[in-house]
Amino acid sequence: MQVTIGQLGRQGPVSNQFEGYFRFICLECGEFRATVNPHNNLAHCFSCGRHFNNIDLLMALGYDFPSAVEVLEQWLRSHREHHASNV
Ligand SMILES: [Zn+2]
Repeated sequence: MQVTIGQLGRQGPVSNQFEGYFRFICLECGEFRATVNPHNNLAHCFSCGRHFNNIDLLMALGYDFPSAVEVLEQWLRSHREHHASNV
């Protein structure tokens, strides 16, 4: 999910690292309390209780479902290739 928000850049929500966790501004309530769980790559907002996955995030930013799936696959592929070339 960190990859997704990184790829979104200025289009995506404001984010930072806080006490080892990646968090961003919740797209539901606007509080800076949406925190990514590194174990399942899902975000949970501690303010409004909403859960987000990568698809939810993109759809909240105006993508429809098929294009959200498509850009995520592209980003994940280029992310993996980038890391593979660094081995
Ligand atoms: Zn929220």
